[in-house]
Amino acid sequence: MITPLQAAALIRRNTPSSVSRVAALADCCGSVLAADVRAGCAMPVADNSAMDGYVIRSVDVARASKDRPVKLRVAGTLKAGDGRTLRIAAGTAYRIMTGAFIPTGGTAVIPKEDAKLQEGRLCVEQPIRTGQHIRRCGEEIQKGQLLLKKGTCLHPAAIGVLASFGFASASVYQKPRVTVLATGNELTAPGKKLSPGKIYDSNSWMIRSALLQIGVSPLRVLTLRDEIAKVRRAIRTALAEGDCLILLGGVSVGDYDVVKEALALEKVRTVFWKVNQKPGKPLYFGRKAKKIIFGLPGNPAAAFTCFYEYIVPALFKMLGRSEPGLRQRAVKTEGAVPQDKSKHLFLKARVSKDSVKHSAADELTAQALNHQGSHMLTSLVDADGFLRVPPSGEGAPQAGTSGDRRLLMDFLPHAGLI
Ligand code: AMP
Ligand code: MG
Repeated sequence: MITPLQAAALIRRNTPSSVSRVAALADCCGSVLAADVRAGCAMPVADNSAMDGYVIRSVDVARASKDRPVKLRVAGTLKAGDGRTLRIAAGTAYRIMTGAFIPTGGTAVIPKEDAKLQEGRLCVEQPIRTGQHIRRCGEEIQKGQLLLKKGTCLHPAAIGVLASFGFASASVYQKPRVTVLATGNELTAPGKKLSPGKIYDSNSWMIRSALLQIGVSPLRVLTLRDEIAKVRRAIRTALAEGDCLILLGGVSVGDYDVVKEALALEKVRTVFWKVNQKPGKPLYFGRKAKKIIFGLPGNPAAAFTCFYEYIVPALFKMLGRSEPGLRQRAVKTEGAVPQDKSKHLFLKARVSKDSVKHSAADELTAQALNHQGSHMLTSLVDADGFLRVPPSGEGAPQAGTSGDRRLLMDFLPHAGLI
């Protein structure tokens, strides 16, 4: 049986690289830029007011004092969006609103709160610094400067940046089109009444959410009975429509585990089936032309672990993201760390919050959570990720004891600790 590392390498090799396309801004969140973006204009686009107040010429009030105030005539009002090009004459001021462009000759803004009006005139009792409360054209970015680098993942702030420079679309890597098919006669949709022999379908909801979390909105999420004809039909449609198919359940050796047979009948080539790991031993990976197919075991914690450990790296590659998969780092372990003689373990684990607060950044301490069973989901709510425990037979130090053991830990995207 292959090891987790061999499985990951096979998936990487068989996963197609990202393809670029131009996408509307509304569809760009979570996509990766396929080309550098340069500023098509300066930012700010013109000198404008940072305050509601009065725009003046500093020279007019250079000698103002409490005893000898300078009185400026208020010639009009400028609001954000006004397109007039005005010149501010000597001895005058304009009322100006935040964001309004500064008229020619204007050099400073007196905030409304500090302004003194006497008989309709602006009374200035001290010199005003040139540039006060003016946002300068280009002070943030000059025209032509590099705005966003190829490879940047377009999070909301980056989308805001693109919009602020007037981009209605961007060249991004196409997001993979993914279908999720959960199989099982026992599955009942949440919200429905549970009849004898049935359980609620948690996996398809969990995997749908996990996909959304990494910016992939699935084409379809369907629940099917363990009937080969139905499963085959759904596989055919999914492969015709999408780039990646995720099957949940039915890949093991049970009499009603029809998924592998259905895939074979649909001419999907098995790249591997079974990985020497716990949870998730029956993990399946196959390929048909450029389409990739994952079969995850139905046990919920196994499906969850396999999704993050094996499918996330593949989707990242298709998304054009630079990270190879989950963030990984060595951590110190505390408490008992189960280990198996011959299997690689992925243990649900939590980082000690104290170690985040009090230790140097490379000194995180993690502990394996209770309820490691692959059918047990609740402990995953507290998990920051998975401790990778190699089999003890491979000459690795013995675990099962507390202590200063260092292990690699893979961090879930929502862990937010490192
Ligand atoms: P399977 O991989 O289909 O043999 O399923 C293994 C175990 O996972 C069984 O106990 C199933 O009832 C359970 N299971 C399968 N699919 C789901 C699902 N979508 N949601 C929750 N449990 C599931
Ligand atoms: Mg099943």
